[in-house]
Amino acid sequence: MSATDNCLFCKIVAGQIPSRKVFEDDEVLAFHDINPWAPVHFLIVPKQHIASMAQVTARDAPLISHMLLLAPRLALEQGCSPYPDGGFRIVTNTGTQGGQEVHHLHFHVMGGPRPWARG
Ligand code: AMP
Ligand code: ZN
Repeated sequence: MSATDNCLFCKIVAGQIPSRKVFEDDEVLAFHDINPWAPVHFLIVPKQHIASMAQVTARDAPLISHMLLLAPRLALEQGCSPYPDGGFRIVTNTGTQGGQEVHHLHFHVMGGPRPWARG
């Protein structure tokens, strides 16, 4: 059994658990959060299993950059208003004390009109 066998987001990437897809390419998948904090709330995850930002190395810089550069584009496509009056929040919880519940790296992208359910 590999580290990824019990990983929720690996199963979503593999299509074994359904998700509402926002974007997909060879490297990443973006899908709507099942319990949104904001009118727009989706997650950007790498297709390869990386547990958290604590495991990221310089070798992953192109992947991390790709994920971050997707955020503003997908936020607008999903209905966030443009900067500066609109905008969005990018959050990456890391580790238990960092509030991470799913241990497969993901960037939360949240936005839309206030108030939000949380955050
Ligand atoms: P974190 O607490 O940063 O690890 O965030 C994990 C996020 O995954 C939470 O916001 C959950 O609502 C979300 N989540 C959990 N299960 C699913 C699922 N099956 N599909 C989409 N999002 C999920
Ligand atoms: Zn995983």
